[in-house]
Amino acid sequence: MADSPASGSAPATSEPVFSSGKLSAEDVQRIRGDFPILHQMVHGDQPLVYLDSAATSQKPRVVIDKLVEVYEQYNSNVHRGIHALGDRMTVEMEGAREKVARFINAASAEQIVFTSGTTMSVNLVAHGWAAQRLGPGDEILVNEMEHHANLVPWQMAAKASGATLKFLPLTPTWELDVSRLEEFLTRRTKLVAVTGMSNVTGTINPLELLTRAAHDVGARIFVDAAQSAAHGPVDVRSPDVDFLAFSGHKLLGPTGIGILYGKADALEEIEPLFGGGHMINEVTPEGSTWAALPARLEAGTAPFAQTAGLGVALDYLSNLGMETIARQEQTLLELATSRLETIPGVTIFGPPCAKKGAIVSMTVDGVHAHDLADLLDRQGVAIRAGHHCTMPLHERFGVAATARASFAFYNTPEEVEQLAAAIEKAVEIFKRPRRSRGV
Ligand code: PLP
Repeated sequence: MADSPASGSAPATSEPVFSSGKLSAEDVQRIRGDFPILHQMVHGDQPLVYLDSAATSQKPRVVIDKLVEVYEQYNSNVHRGIHALGDRMTVEMEGAREKVARFINAASAEQIVFTSGTTMSVNLVAHGWAAQRLGPGDEILVNEMEHHANLVPWQMAAKASGATLKFLPLTPTWELDVSRLEEFLTRRTKLVAVTGMSNVTGTINPLELLTRAAHDVGARIFVDAAQSAAHGPVDVRSPDVDFLAFSGHKLLGPTGIGILYGKADALEEIEPLFGGGHMINEVTPEGSTWAALPARLEAGTAPFAQTAGLGVALDYLSNLGMETIARQEQTLLELATSRLETIPGVTIFGPPCAKKGAIVSMTVDGVHAHDLADLLDRQGVAIRAGHHCTMPLHERFGVAATARASFAFYNTPEEVEQLAAAIEKAVEIFKRPRRSRGV
């Protein structure tokens, strides 16, 4: 691999690595130097080509260092310690909350609830809001491209409340069929739950239009930004969404930390699902009253070390610039799409590149997705195969599994070519009689 080793790279939070708004090949190499994990061989002598960032992103050294700093210097429970370490950790955590608010342009840090991830954020709203407030005759509008995390909780909420789940149809290019919005979005609709970007097709959904349409009928809109927040700018006030969720681990941050953003009045409407420490105002043997937001929805010990790591991850992304990241990934997406389309038997599921993010999910004639992923892995290329937690979408595709390559700004055009060459090799291997197969 041509990469320079990670050690000795400049702290990314203090020095932006580019200035033009577009990354040069040297910029990307320098960025790669910040990610220690990328510089390794797998299966003995195969340089790692990591194309699974939609599942989880890799972490720059500054994030890893931050976690070490926390545990070496000021690990202490937050909001309770009347001592130096507790104070320092609390400042770090609340500072991270401010950074999240700035990252998504929230009006105030009180609108940022720390959760364990997108899944928990969706469940908080599904069980604490929809299941409590909706009833028979009410409708929740979803669609078949949603990750199970943004579908199953709404199914549960509908079952608990008696509300009905409706599915906005998809177009043949795997976009939302917004031409049918009027039919599906009515005064009965109380919530629209939609992903900002599909984790399979990469489809970027028209949030502006959906938010306006939802508000026109008096419905709230919940945006699953697990993918979209990692790949471009997020502004929760334009469009003016009611709820938005994402996971730290997909944005260079640690696992175990997620975000639920809500408009102040929307968050107020959520009943706390979990009781315990920190979320109360007063507790008597007879009952309890709740603390103000966001504490009310953050029972128990917060993932405080992870919040510090997430704060540094957001600094890193902001230094690069989310617009720059989006542009860089779009270049990789276009390259990958045009190259993979030259391989006979490859079918890519999704809209044209201009309408999607840097995810390519495909089938290859004659090669099962799992076999493809396995053969690629043996050549060092890490992709993912399966239904990617979108069984209804794969039912629509008419296949049980797809192979998904997902790109981040730390990937290179050379890696795109390695992916394509590895697929070509897999196709060749599968053309051979079964006995003589092997990489
Ligand atoms: N939504 C989408 C679009 C995703 O891609 C994912 C994870 O892959 C999730 C939700 C769930 O995220 P998490 O598992 O971090 O809670």
